[in-house]
Amino acid sequence: MFRLLTIVFLVIAIPAQSASPPLPFGMTLSAKTIRLWNEVTKAYGKPIREEQPPDVSDSGRSVIADDGTPVVQLAADSHDEDHLVHELMHLKLFLEGFPIGAEWALGCDNKREFRLAEWSRMNLNEAIDHWIFYPQIRAMGMTPDQSYVNDLKKMVMSADAASIPARSLAVDYFRAKTMAGQQNLARSVREWCLAGHQAEAVKAGDAMFEILMKQRPASPDQAIETYVACANVLFEDAKGFKFLGWHNMPRGNVQVRLARMLMWSLTPCR
Ligand SMILES: [Zn+2]
Repeated sequence: MFRLLTIVFLVIAIPAQSASPPLPFGMTLSAKTIRLWNEVTKAYGKPIREEQPPDVSDSGRSVIADDGTPVVQLAADSHDEDHLVHELMHLKLFLEGFPIGAEWALGCDNKREFRLAEWSRMNLNEAIDHWIFYPQIRAMGMTPDQSYVNDLKKMVMSADAASIPARSLAVDYFRAKTMAGQQNLARSVREWCLAGHQAEAVKAGDAMFEILMKQRPASPDQAIETYVACANVLFEDAKGFKFLGWHNMPRGNVQVRLARMLMWSLTPCR
């Protein structure tokens, strides 16, 4: 009887011991995404930590902790493969020397200017980084940034372009153009902007896309120069942008970089 009990115990215990680790964010993921997760874990030499973004308006973010731990932050309503793969791609780029953020020197040194500078980085510099990794997401059989595409479609259907700031429209139009396979969406964003008398936004979006297609950035230096050229178009008569160099910082076993950036003002400070 004792021997029988031991055998039963072993049979029950074996599957528990060989069970795979818990899935990221408790999600059901495709084999390709699990492979990508494992690839990023291996590249950093540390398990990826899962967190909630500290800012409630953020759907997803990727950061590198002080000890070099890669961190993916996903909001509760963004626990899906689309957001996870996106953040893993950012983590891969960080290891290739793409910046984790910027250090700003500002012509007008105040909070408002800082927010504007960061807005340009998060919407333009990151959009350029996205364009660099979109082909890898498409190669996984996925539509990059599906949730952003859905939001943009909804906005075109329900909002009035006339009521949206021109720079914000220009960025959305630019981002739609950077997505292979979303050319119908880009066209409808264009028509929607024009119907809302936002021809300037279309002009800026087209000019930025032309810069991207001409420069076709692949390295961190090329991506940052493309960002600077695009930002100088988007903020044409208000701000000027310049890349000043890299600030390299060790974090644990990995090296990360901040882009040292200058944004000056072409109008009086306020
Ligand atoms: Zn991103």
